[in-house]
Amino acid sequence: MPFEGAADAYIINTCSVTAVSDKKSRQMIRRARKQAPEAIVAVCGCYPQTHPEEIKDLPVDLIAGTGDRRGFLELLEREWQDRRPITALDNAFDRRTFEPLPAGGLEGRTRCLLKIEDGCVNFCSYCIIPYARGRVRSLPAGEAAKEAERLAAEGYREIVLTGIEISSWGQDLPGDQTLCDLLEAVCAALPRDVRLRLGSLEPRTITGDFCRRAAALPQLCPHFHLSLQSGCDTVLKRMNRKYDTERYYESVTLLRQYFDDPAITTDLITGFPGETEEEFSETLAFLHRCGFADMHIFPYSIRPGTPAARMEQVPKAIKEERCARAAETAAELHQAYLRRWVGRQVPVLFEERGENGLWRGHAPNYMVVEAEGENLHNRTMDVLLTGSGGEVLQGRIGGGHV
Ligand code: SF4
Repeated sequence: MPFEGAADAYIINTCSVTAVSDKKSRQMIRRARKQAPEAIVAVCGCYPQTHPEEIKDLPVDLIAGTGDRRGFLELLEREWQDRRPITALDNAFDRRTFEPLPAGGLEGRTRCLLKIEDGCVNFCSYCIIPYARGRVRSLPAGEAAKEAERLAAEGYREIVLTGIEISSWGQDLPGDQTLCDLLEAVCAALPRDVRLRLGSLEPRTITGDFCRRAAALPQLCPHFHLSLQSGCDTVLKRMNRKYDTERYYESVTLLRQYFDDPAITTDLITGFPGETEEEFSETLAFLHRCGFADMHIFPYSIRPGTPAARMEQVPKAIKEERCARAAETAAELHQAYLRRWVGRQVPVLFEERGENGLWRGHAPNYMVVEAEGENLHNRTMDVLLTGSGGEVLQGRIGGGHV
């Protein structure tokens, strides 16, 4: 139902990643109340978890945070019966166990997300997430494997492992379990033709041992998203990131040693507090050195309550101008990566037919590929890549030459 419609209850699941997200949540709450003054307005997620005092001043009936999501529906029912304000907030740092959530499907029955971890204690200086989510909690490997097996049996052809900081998976479990142990358990439970893709990783996860073991897993996609945030060591230090550019580059080199031209993708923040033109130039040079396949770039946005919010800010126009320059570099590198694949054959998992009538899907390295064919939905086909244009590679089903 569209948000404009009148409803008995409005559930506003908030994000609190920047001050702008908070503002949008407040607007949404007021809008819901205005639209249906008698309705229940329930708020959950990171905003009430981190800023309960701000929510309490708003016209809200039920306030919950990021914990006990299953209990939330019961609270909603109680609110419906009693119509008395409820606040159900815990201290995120007191949580000790992982709360499994039903895996969610994307793009029909093709790809789905499997959450294996919650929480983060890295405390990057610009990020509010550790306060919203608490310490690391992991879904045990055996349970993740069972869930993956069930999803494959339901027909999903690709499973994406997600979490707040999946590199820390296992920290809270007995023994010295690492992400690689989980990957091996999940791959052992999956049919060979179901892909496994990893969410964002910390560069320090990538070691020789990780690469050797990961490269032996046939289902694992050669697509590694290593958050960079800045390519300049002094900025990384101010960000309180736990690696420097040399350690980052070591990860990039290792991945290229063990995988065939893997897609190494990243996130970047431009105009972080105090970032000088020289520091930004170092970042640009580092982007070229790494040769990223794709990048997400954001101008720094203040998150009140974090150390970075109290640092010397870079003017908005400069943040945006640097964002545009980094985006130009990213586009160049992306095109170079796509062009390298023309003439090669890759298995493509097709998802949908585009407006141009061609079927569209993803290669293991997450390149978007288009090809002609009958109903290819949810099918993996070998495709010869014949050309690249814009964001998409063109291909022909079956073998042959370009
Ligand atoms: S690792 Fe990610 S989630 Fe954790 S504090 Fe840093 S940016 Fe936030």
